Amino acid sequence: MVWQSPIAPGVTFYQSTIAERPEYPALDGSKTTDVAVIGGGYTGLQAAYNLAKAGIAVTLIEGHRFGDGASGRNGGQFGTGQRWSPEETEAELGYERSRALFDMAEHAKKYVLDFAETQGIDIDFIPGQMNVSHKRGHDREYRESAEIAAARYGYTHLSFMDQEETRERLGSKRYFCGVRDTGTGHINPLKLLVGLARAAHAAGADLREMTPATSIRQAGGKTLIETPTGTITADRVLIATNAYIGNLEPVTAAHIMPIRSFIGATVPLDTFPSVIPGSEAVADSRFVVRYFRKSRDGRLLFGGREAYTADNPIDISSHIRRHIAEIYPELADIEMTHAWGGSVGITLPRKPFAREVMPGVTSIGGFSGHGVMLSNYCGKLYADAVIGKAPELDLLKDLNIGAFPGGASLRKPLLLLALTWYALRDRF
Ligand SMILES: Cc1cc2nc3c(=O)[nH]c(=O)nc-3n(C[C@H](O)[C@H](O)[C@H](O)COP(=O)(O)OP(=O)(O)OC[C@H]3O[C@@H](n4cnc5c(N)ncnc54)[C@H](O)[C@@H]3O)c2cc1C
Repeated sequence: MVWQSPIAPGVTFYQSTIAERPEYPALDGSKTTDVAVIGGGYTGLQAAYNLAKAGIAVTLIEGHRFGDGASGRNGGQFGTGQRWSPEETEAELGYERSRALFDMAEHAKKYVLDFAETQGIDIDFIPGQMNVSHKRGHDREYRESAEIAAARYGYTHLSFMDQEETRERLGSKRYFCGVRDTGTGHINPLKLLVGLARAAHAAGADLREMTPATSIRQAGGKTLIETPTGTITADRVLIATNAYIGNLEPVTAAHIMPIRSFIGATVPLDTFPSVIPGSEAVADSRFVVRYFRKSRDGRLLFGGREAYTADNPIDISSHIRRHIAEIYPELADIEMTHAWGGSVGITLPRKPFAREVMPGVTSIGGFSGHGVMLSNYCGKLYADAVIGKAPELDLLKDLNIGAFPGGASLRKPLLLLALTWYALRDRF
């Protein structure tokens, strides 16, 4: 039977590409460990893998199955740099910090690709990504952005695309200019996730699926995590639950908000060779970003629609197909084979959140739709910090992300209002 995530709607296309998805047993009694990790997405599993490799006893608990959160269901686009352009970050934080954050994302990119290669995980990597403008009049801005990346950040893989080139490379008349990035690409996220869990298990991490943490408390210098089937006592804890934090820990919940995003997959586009002939990934300039790409077998995987409430949309497929038809009218009747959603963890400034929320308890998440590379790398950096190696994670801790305003009861309605306003602006 096809597995349906209990925390996200729809069955993903990625599930059909995985031959074998090992199951890991639930926790079956109390235990003591050096480090406990809560959450089995990229962040948690990378932390567990790297800690186990360093000989540290680590137990990871996942409330459902690995990949049920964002890491197994995302758009698979790496991008380059952080969520914001380096020049925007520079204007806010100055060159040194902006450069360090840019370099960190480059380290993340290299880390993920090297990890997949050394572990022999075929992640369906396809090179190339294009950021495109859905409005006229932004040529100068896009051109300058490519120039700044090369001149100030040493990143020479960006090239400006005028309207004609943009139309050709996308196979669509809906966009007006863009930047093509040949130094990045896109992947099958679930293949990475499944391979990562295998690697963590092989390295000696104690991995437990179907084991939700129900509370975290501290006693006698240790942290105790309650689950339905036992208590874990740990010297250190990583909270890697990202958008799915719920009520488990209030500081994380105040800083990371879930936003739902939805993706649809078409049948392979064999008879539409003009659609992204170079197979790059695409992200557009809308506030509610439309992100799409071709899979290795030639399907269009198209993401875009967002929702800010917990309700599942009734018909994700038709909605996504309408978005596709706006960009590719010839695909108005294309058959959709899969449609699904997941929760993206966002922070107020759309920068990652990393903080010690209790003594010995670190929380990491809020990659704001830009976490495929970064969450993997942050999991590794957490392990580095435990081992006493490179303090690169401090770059994120120093961002000092603020909480969403409005407190527990008001912040969701306030956010909903703000986001709906920005989403409306996309239509003008
Ligand atoms: C639809 C969608 C499209 C996206 N597209 C892109 C993209 O193209 N590019 C990009 O860079 N990023 C994208 N993202 C974001 C990216 O997927 C995330 O940033 C990244 O996967 C975060 O990984 P994580 O490990 O921090 O969180 P997750 O993968 O969400 O893992 C958190 C895990 O914690 C578990 N958990 C929660 N509570 C508990 C508990 N109490 N006890 C035990 N376990 C618990 C959850 O079940 C979940 O498995 C997208 C996200 C979505 C949803």
